[in-house]
Amino acid sequence: METTRLKAPVGNVASRVALALALLLLAADFAMAQDKGSVNPEPLPPLANPNDPTTPAKELFGRKTTPTSAAAHTIGFYSRGCIAGANALPLDGETWQVMRQSRNRNWGHPNLVRFLERLANQAPKVGWRGLLVGDMSQPRGGPMYTGHFSHQVGLDADIWLTPMPDRKLTRQEREEMMSTVVVAEDGKDVDPKVWTSAHAAIIRAAAKDPQVSRIFANPAIKKALCREAGRDRAWLRKVRVWFGHDYHFHVRIYCPTDSPACTPDPPLVGDEGCSGRDLDRWFTDAFLHPKPTKEKPPLRMADLPAACRQLLSAP
Ligand SMILES: [Zn+2]
Repeated sequence: METTRLKAPVGNVASRVALALALLLLAADFAMAQDKGSVNPEPLPPLANPNDPTTPAKELFGRKTTPTSAAAHTIGFYSRGCIAGANALPLDGETWQVMRQSRNRNWGHPNLVRFLERLANQAPKVGWRGLLVGDMSQPRGGPMYTGHFSHQVGLDADIWLTPMPDRKLTRQEREEMMSTVVVAEDGKDVDPKVWTSAHAAIIRAAAKDPQVSRIFANPAIKKALCREAGRDRAWLRKVRVWFGHDYHFHVRIYCPTDSPACTPDPPLVGDEGCSGRDLDRWFTDAFLHPKPTKEKPPLRMADLPAACRQLLSAP
């Protein structure tokens, strides 16, 4: 399943340009249904012409099953890059479990792995039993076959909005279980039957981590967080509204200091984003029911930093 681009709602030219840029630059995953995995995944068939410059980069990165042996560092931007020397988040910890392990996307920069372990450790203290961790990055990062524009440099992770159960999930459950959609059917608020204060607490704990630069969540989730935050609100600024993200939240961490070739996000501007353009417009018809537009052509290797081409064939 592929993501689709969304048509900018009517507005002045500047806001349309800003939204188009946001679509390109933010490049977070959005508007996706959940996919099951398989306990017996079919390996991808070899490519007939891997050196053909028109080959989509996702075909090449999607066939790399191991990280490079270099010291860990990220290269490029969250939605246009790769990672050397990625570490795996172990499939199980005391307070986390990795979902969809057949995808082999539990890789990231050591800072991301450490952040997830830190948040998992903190989770029970805020009333969330533990983390079910969705996609991080592929072993060498890069574009993916399904689901994401970003997650390319080992600094993004999806965390399910279902708390970890009090037992170890089976291999099959990890492939087939679905996460909880916390947004009401009309998209205008969270579903009071499933949303709890613990959902807010785990997102707040993630946002308060000093390594975290941004969190992407559905507008209805941001609305609930704004309503429930009380006086401690500075962290809300990091929670950015985006399409989809109704069954997981997406955490992004800052460029690591060991990665001079990592391109950071622009600094956050504005206030906590609980009103006006930041939030209210997401509940207009144009945003609630956006029209899909033509898909972007897939990234090719020439679209990625040169170091990512070398990384593809590195030991
Ligand atoms: Zn994500």
